[in-house]
Formats: sequence, structure tokens, C-alpha cells
Amino acid sequence: TEELLRQRDKLVLAGEMAAGVAHEVRNPLTSLNGFIQLIHETDSKHRTYTTIMLSELKRINDIVGEFLLLAKPQSLHMEIGLLEKVLSDVTLLFKTEGALNNISISLEPFQEPAYIQGDTNQLKQVFINLLKNSLEAMPNGGKIIITPKTTEDGFVDIFIKDNGVGISKALLSKIQEPFFTTKEKGTGLGLVIIQNILHQHQGSFVIYDSKINEGTTVRVRLPVINIS
Ligand code: ADP
Ligand code: MG
Repeated sequence: TEELLRQRDKLVLAGEMAAGVAHEVRNPLTSLNGFIQLIHETDSKHRTYTTIMLSELKRINDIVGEFLLLAKPQSLHMEIGLLEKVLSDVTLLFKTEGALNNISISLEPFQEPAYIQGDTNQLKQVFINLLKNSLEAMPNGGKIIITPKTTEDGFVDIFIKDNGVGISKALLSKIQEPFFTTKEKGTGLGLVIIQNILHQHQGSFVIYDSKINEGTTVRVRLPVINIS
């Protein structure tokens, strides 16, 4: 419990920092980007520099974007819908990027319709972050399989299985900490965002199974709404 509390405190702190910094940084960033873009297009002499500046700015922008996601949304827009729709939308979103990286993504059919109550965009974000991680774990291509399963006690489980690099036992306890990343360009916020969103939906997330060089399976669990 103490460990959980410590985790929770860290999440809250990270969220507050995120909100503050991200909002302040957004505007100057946009104007900086605009002017550098202008120089980039009009001044060929310094293009080597402006190219780097633009790509570094994009990097900052990506990080700020993740910070903003981490900041607690003012109000969740909760609606009842089919989880299948959320998943097929997100899968479609990654089809091209997957294909470009030699990665196939397949969504297995639902055995029965799973209605859930949630904020569609936030829920999409959960699966976007997870698919991103799977893609990034497979630099030489591979396969992602998304399998839904309804449980006996009113939940729907979504398993996302990749055959990527896997996660070592030693790292398993660390990867859900804010800012922990093994990637050169990672922020270490993806899983934190997932935890936050699922917490707000009475759901949960676990690394279900992972083996080095074989792959990882994660499980997202959400309560289903009984429509009858
Ligand atoms: P980031 O992706 O920015 O590193 P995340 O919070 O999304 O941050 O993930 C934290 C770490 O968890 C990653 O750096 C990686 O080491 C590990 N990880 C998460 N998902 C996977 C996966 N599917 N396969 C291998 N490692 C993973
Ligand atoms: Mg990530």
C-alpha cells in the first residue's frame, strides 16, 4: 500500500507539473516554430541549422503534447459506446505506419458486443500509447494481435500481444514510473497516461506477460455496461 501511495503521489505531482509547464510552453513554441520555418524557407545559407532546429522543436512539441495529455482533463466527456469502435478506429490509424515498418496489426473479433461508458478520445489514447509501444518494440517488423475477451464478472479484457524486444524482469517494476524510459527519444509518460485514464474509467492495466526477445502482452480491463 505504501508503494502504491508513493506511486499515486508521483502521478499527481507529475500531472500538476505537466499542466503548468505545458500550457506555458505551448505558445512561445508555436511562434518560435513559425519564425524558424520562415528563415528555413527564405535563407538557404543556414538551412543545415534550421533543419536541426525544426526537428528539435518538433521533439519539444511532442514532449509537451504528452505532458498536456497527462494533465488531468477538465471534464471527461462520458458516453456509452462499443469498445469495438474505439479499437477499430485506433487499429486503422496505425495500419499505414505498421505496414511501413513491416508490422501487421490485427484486431480479433469480439465474441459479444462490449458496451462501455467512457470518454472516447481518452480511451483511444490508451490504445494509441500501447500500439506505439508495441511498434517501437519491433524495429525489425513483426506482428501485433489485439484480442478482446469478456469476463464472467462484468469486464472486458483487451490483450495486445507483440513479438518485440520484450521487457526484462528487472525493468518490470520500473516502466510504469513517470519519466522512466529505455528509449533515446522516449518520454516515459505513455504508461502513466494510460494508468491515469484507466483509473478514471474504473479500469486497469497490467503487463500480462513479457519475455526478452520474444515479446510482450499487455492487458487492459474495463467494466462493461449491461444493456438489456
Ligand atoms: P516511452 O514509450 O516514452 O519510453 P512508456 O511509458 O510508454 O514511455 O513506456 C516505458 C517503457 O516501458 C519503455 O521505454 C519500454 O522500455 C517499456 N515498454 C512498454 N511497452 C513495451 C513493449 N510493448 N515492449 C517492450 N517494452 C515496452
Ligand atoms: Mg510509449
